[in-house]
Amino acid sequence: MTPVLESSSASSDEARWQAVLARDAAQDGLFYYGVGTTGIFCRPACPSRLPRRENVVYFETPEAAQAAGFRACLRCQPGQVSVQQQAVAQVKCLLDNSETAPTLAELARATQLSPAHLQRLFKAQVGVSPKQYALARRAERLKARLRSGSDVTTALFDAGHASASTLYSSQTDQLGMAPGAYQKGGAGQRIAYAVVSSRLGQMLVAATPRGLVAVRFGEDTELLAELRSEYPHAELSDDGPALQAQISAIQAYLAGQERSLNLPRDVSSSDFQCRVWEALQAIPYGETRSYAQVAEMIGSPAAVRAVARACASNPVALIVPCHRVVRSDGALSGYRWGVERKRALLKNEREGK
Ligand SMILES: [Zn+2]
Repeated sequence: MTPVLESSSASSDEARWQAVLARDAAQDGLFYYGVGTTGIFCRPACPSRLPRRENVVYFETPEAAQAAGFRACLRCQPGQVSVQQQAVAQVKCLLDNSETAPTLAELARATQLSPAHLQRLFKAQVGVSPKQYALARRAERLKARLRSGSDVTTALFDAGHASASTLYSSQTDQLGMAPGAYQKGGAGQRIAYAVVSSRLGQMLVAATPRGLVAVRFGEDTELLAELRSEYPHAELSDDGPALQAQISAIQAYLAGQERSLNLPRDVSSSDFQCRVWEALQAIPYGETRSYAQVAEMIGSPAAVRAVARACASNPVALIVPCHRVVRSDGALSGYRWGVERKRALLKNEREGK
């Protein structure tokens, strides 16, 4: 994700030094400082004894500090993703996937931080408040959908907006869950679906008024059986017209006319899956990453297998571009909808780039 606005990070040496003096955790991840006399580099908030200012040099990234010959401090572990960075990633994940933004209090509960701390931390890291971020993301989504054409898009957007606010008033404490997530089995959910032909064969698209629940490839009978078994209690209706906007956007992407598929999803997930899917959405069109790289992106470098499982459990093909994850040696490895489809998608993207 590109930042919404320029970050308000400490950019001058003076501001950085003040952050070091204050051990300001809100500046975490925005810069690192190395101490010439010890050869060690730290986060701004490191609890270690403060260095003398004349011995301090600043770096944008841990890699830059290491390249300059500094070793990571054992106390503040600047090479790892911090709790603060994870909290910000989790909040972005929640905001990216909701039509109606959760309140600051809800976000604070989800990250187990105080509202004031979260507000300050998010603003320092992202450059805008969670609320401004959510509004900007929502505006981007609306624009993307208006670009894709039909009047149905606006109607869908309004419908999603109205029903989402009702949802949030009754659901306040889904720790670590995507806001769209609720009862298992889809009780009380209305899901419209359509099976259409696409460049990659039969494609099932299914959505609630809040967002997509499935984008999948296969044979139509299997696709429908799978959807029914996952949402046994939902009210399913075969309703292509209701999904026209999403289907057009996906077809345009498959035809190489559209590079980003900024469509909201409404799928429940664990916090871990959410972070993996968020990381996948940050991989640019036409590029790939290894499972190990994705594990590093989300701050869990040891969780390579869990990342692979999260990719394999992606219910919304293309929207969460799990096809952009390959093995470290560049081999394609698996794809939930077959390695041939993965190959075709990546080829398409390389050519369309
Ligand atoms: Zn340190």
